[in-house]
Amino acid sequence: MKITQVETFLISAAPPQSGGWEARNWLFVKIHTDEDVYGVGEASGWPRVVQTAIEDLTRLLIGEDPMQIERLWQKMTSSIMGHGMTGVVGFGAMTGIEIALWDLKGKALGVPVWNLLGGKIRDKVRVYAHAHDADRARELVDRGYTAIKTGGIRNCVESVAGIRKEVGVDIDLMVDVHGPPWMTTRDAIALGKRLEPYDLFFYEDPVAPENIDSIARVSDALDMPIAAGERHAGIWGVKELIEREIIDVVQPDTGRAGGIRQMQKIAAMAEAHYITMAPHDGSLGPIAEMAAVHLMASIPNFLILEHLEDDVPQRYEVMSGQPEVVDSYITVPDAPGLGVDIVEDACAKYPSQGNISDPEPTYDYLYFWTRENRATWLSEKEKERSDYRPGSVY
Ligand SMILES: [Mg+2]
Repeated sequence: MKITQVETFLISAAPPQSGGWEARNWLFVKIHTDEDVYGVGEASGWPRVVQTAIEDLTRLLIGEDPMQIERLWQKMTSSIMGHGMTGVVGFGAMTGIEIALWDLKGKALGVPVWNLLGGKIRDKVRVYAHAHDADRARELVDRGYTAIKTGGIRNCVESVAGIRKEVGVDIDLMVDVHGPPWMTTRDAIALGKRLEPYDLFFYEDPVAPENIDSIARVSDALDMPIAAGERHAGIWGVKELIEREIIDVVQPDTGRAGGIRQMQKIAAMAEAHYITMAPHDGSLGPIAEMAAVHLMASIPNFLILEHLEDDVPQRYEVMSGQPEVVDSYITVPDAPGLGVDIVEDACAKYPSQGNISDPEPTYDYLYFWTRENRATWLSEKEKERSDYRPGSVY
């Protein structure tokens, strides 16, 4: 079998009236062969740029045996080393291709991807959904969710207090600060201390990810699990976080981590340090999510998977074989490959509109915001800020 063609589908994943979310795109990959079998994958990591990178890499893949996944991954890595250290663009491109190769291999052999990864430990994968207030949390719990994440620093303590009061102690509750560059290390610690009484499942990206020592300071200062890793790529991107045991939960983004096998290697590194894995899925589409489901079924140190409940309408149109969440779990599929497929006609209905977020007119205010009225945002007292970014979770 030989690879004959690599196709990409760049889709707008922005909700209607999306504000700064025009940047949300899904990039699907389809690898064709000279036999009646193909594979599908998904890449993130600045999708329009990654799409071009995949087009560049295609020349290396044509005529190759798609079953030799690690060899092709090493070939691609070697081909781009002249561009500098591999970040989310290079790893993003290789991720989309690599996931499609696993899907293709599973289909060619007639087995699900999890079966190629060492077999499955579990038949279903636990997921969590997102709530910004107690009403939404109650709705999700009533639908069967047992784990909920809230986000941002705006009214964060007040929101967490309200959700915990509403859902009780039986529900796992997480907070994602989204690592904003305007959050200082000391303020991330202060916010974390306010959150400690609520017994969080984890405190995610309390500071921006570039400064590892800053995350380490937050981690050392707090008595709760720390999660990070969604904006890093490859085994080297999270190496220090794991080896220094700065984090308790590693969160690779399945669309840019480097591929299923890179994530498998990250999981093994984490396992050696008693660190669990909870892949990032917040901006990803349904193919990457399903790739995560297969891998999470096969690793021992899986914690939980992010899931966007009630996502944009196109999510439910562009892929066949959509997972169903029942009582906070997705059942691991037994179909060959990933068990999903791209609906190309539906993809064509949602062309990409943009690839970066528009800076807000008040962007200079963002740095200032956490310095202003510090006692207010660190309190349980809700405060409205009508001049702040509309629709933002921050
Ligand atoms: Mg996050």
